[in-house]
Amino acid sequence: MDLKLGTLSGPDSNTKDVFDLVIAGGGPAALSAALYAARYGINHVVLESYQPGGQAALTALIENYPGVPSIQGSDLTALMRGQAEEAGSLFRASSVSNATRENDLIMIGTDSGELTTRTLIIATGAAPKKLGVPGEDEYYGRGVSYCATCDAPFFKDRKVLVVGGGDSAVKEALHLTEFASSVTIVHRRDRLRAEPLLVKKLLSCGKCSVLWKSQLREISGGDFVETVLIETPEGEVELPTDGVFLYVGRDPATAPFRDLIDLNDDGTVITSNIVHTSSPDIFAAGDVTDNALRQVVTAVSDGARAASEVFELLQASEI
Ligand code: NAP
Repeated sequence: MDLKLGTLSGPDSNTKDVFDLVIAGGGPAALSAALYAARYGINHVVLESYQPGGQAALTALIENYPGVPSIQGSDLTALMRGQAEEAGSLFRASSVSNATRENDLIMIGTDSGELTTRTLIIATGAAPKKLGVPGEDEYYGRGVSYCATCDAPFFKDRKVLVVGGGDSAVKEALHLTEFASSVTIVHRRDRLRAEPLLVKKLLSCGKCSVLWKSQLREISGGDFVETVLIETPEGEVELPTDGVFLYVGRDPATAPFRDLIDLNDDGTVITSNIVHTSSPDIFAAGDVTDNALRQVVTAVSDGARAASEVFELLQASEI
């Protein structure tokens, strides 16, 4: 592709409203890319959707971000956003609906109009995956939740169920113990995949129990969740429950970009050298990528790296 890239600072005077870089996303990967882009002097905008901070902002406590022993996810992402803004990043609350290409320019369709850019960093993260059981949609917001950080206080002295065995399930189950009277984890295998330190905390927590090799089959109740049907190795059991928190993985938010770059079957962006996509002027960072480790620390690393690649590309085009 013959890239005709723009200047490294300030809007392009010849082509009005053409950004050198659009960063799609509002989580740690996007915020780090924004900070670096601002410091590189790249003319850019961040399309942060309506969930500033992304999924990390919905994480109760982050305890593995180096240099910050323990912090609320929303506080950490607010600090990152403030730092990027202070450095000169421009933020727009808008959701990306599609992305197309016209010659060497990328057109980004959003719910607040279209933008044109020379390069793009996709850092749109991933949304919680649905389990797809009867009652899940019906009781969403009436006992069913994908965000313990947001909803845990509603379950004070109540019985709750958490489905999943990854970092999210275990972390948020631990957060729920601060409110709920009991927390039952339902996991389909006999081993949790979460970080061993979290698993140790969970298994020694007095309020917690785990139903191993078990699957949630149905959620039912009246106005709110009342019972769940669980398939266990001993057969089906009905448990009285007030809340069901689902953490069975995440769906990468890559649909708007599927015509521009290659994706894996699970929707993640196929990357090489961490942040490169199948298109030379489009980069990916954070949970949308197919990189194995998906942590805040890797997301911010991806974001910085992607911004640096954009900087080099823009510089090369000026020679
Ligand atoms: P995840 O690691 O993909 O875990 C999903 C869990 O749901 C797995 O235990 C999986 O079971 C289970 N599951 C999937 N489909 C299921 C189904 N149909 N029925 C029942 N159970 C099902 O997802 P995550 O916990 O959201 O984490 C996503 C990424 O973010 C991971 O890379 C994680 O490390 C990272 N993360 C990190 C932190 C942190 O603070 N370090 C916090 C949150 C997330 P199996 O185990 O049998 O596959």
